[in-house]
Amino acid sequence: MPPFNTLSLHKDLLTNLDRLGYKEMTPIQEISLPHILKGSDLIAQAKTGSGKTAAFGIGVLTGIDVKKSYPQVLIITPTRELASQVAQEIRRLGRFMPNLKILSLYGGTPMRGQIESLKHGAHIIVGTPGRLRDHQSRESIDLSYIKCVVLDEADRMLDMGFLDEISKILSNVNKKHQTLLFSATFDESIKKLCSEVTNDAIEVKVDTNHDEDKIQEDHFQVPTDKFEALLKILKSYKPSSCIIFCNTKQKAKELTEDLISKNFSALDLQGDLDQKDRDETLLQFANRSCSILVATDVAARGLDIPDVDIVVNYDFPRDDETYTHRIGRTARAGKSGVAVTFTNKKDSHTLDISSLKVDQSFTITAPMKTICILGGKKKKLRAGDILGALTKNQQLKGESIGKININDNLSYVAIESDLIQKASNILKNDKIKGKKFKSWVIY
Ligand code: ADP
Ligand code: MG
Repeated sequence: MPPFNTLSLHKDLLTNLDRLGYKEMTPIQEISLPHILKGSDLIAQAKTGSGKTAAFGIGVLTGIDVKKSYPQVLIITPTRELASQVAQEIRRLGRFMPNLKILSLYGGTPMRGQIESLKHGAHIIVGTPGRLRDHQSRESIDLSYIKCVVLDEADRMLDMGFLDEISKILSNVNKKHQTLLFSATFDESIKKLCSEVTNDAIEVKVDTNHDEDKIQEDHFQVPTDKFEALLKILKSYKPSSCIIFCNTKQKAKELTEDLISKNFSALDLQGDLDQKDRDETLLQFANRSCSILVATDVAARGLDIPDVDIVVNYDFPRDDETYTHRIGRTARAGKSGVAVTFTNKKDSHTLDISSLKVDQSFTITAPMKTICILGGKKKKLRAGDILGALTKNQQLKGESIGKININDNLSYVAIESDLIQKASNILKNDKIKGKKFKSWVIY
């Protein structure tokens, strides 16, 4: 694949991409970026985990005028977690641009703070349809200067549940904007709708199916005792990190409790939880403080969590697209993974649970635990400050400290679980950057 410097991109952007380890373009980046940079409307299809975010992210960054403090790019995603992740990825891509403001707007977080941030000006808005509509009806957001609209997971965004809201949002956007649609799936009925939101769009399509050698798809006949079968699967495949999909929130909640009762480290991610719990669950899963994420389809689209070994379809997905997106949570960015599905469809490929070799003693305890610190970006805390406090006088070794996340008002640090008490005491007794911060372990 060609390197990014074959495109006419700002030299600081090229340096930044290199630092991020993006040495060459992925196929969808190579084929879509020239069209995006030319200003064409685009319908882009490429498999899960193939770098679609950076494709549109790099594209939209080049069009931003930081001196103008109004929103110029609008990115819409189907879930809150995806909006947050896309905003973070574009922040990383755009960190070479001083004063660039990227605002994520989604529900479950107070309106007031978002309205204040909008007043202070923002260049790129990443949001979910519901919350964007709220801002639109309160006139707290100005969409009239939007030059580019991106629908990530576009087929989902144009699906019945969202189409009406998307049309209403677009009605306030400057008519002359560029529109970019990205997804791994566009079924025939959605294709027709794509032309209603785009103008002479160019269609590009690369590697739409995941490589068969990257995701091993194992299908099992739905057994009489599904939970027993799931335990066998876990004790046979022995994942260290796993996502299990259920079709309802209630099921996700119950299955999580059942797994915990069998000594598996598990947390649920579903729409009944409040947003803080949703955020902390995902954070703990990504930093290895939780090994099994039991989720509804809120987690099916777009989430990029490294090193998920196995995806389990505990409940059979409602449609083919959902199947594709769910299993695409593993085997990302060129890695491989396994997808296990319970199915009623009988064919020569369905496997029999009783044929599995099971290690009865196997359970999964998470290797890390997370400490939450009451203080974040607004208190000028940085990852280095927390790392420094924990490793001062060799109290803890750097290797024992995992991912550090700094939010506006809270920070999170993952610690090897055996050392959690020690780390917790250090943070309780010592100062970070000369100041005492309240902290607690989250479970
Ligand atoms: P998609 O939206 O296609 O499912 P993502 O945009 O979430 O995929 O990207 C998947 C992963 O690939 C991310 O972790 C991202 O950091 C990584 N990635 C994207 N572009 C490149 C690149 N050019 N080189 C290396 N890694 C990349
Ligand atoms: Mg994506």
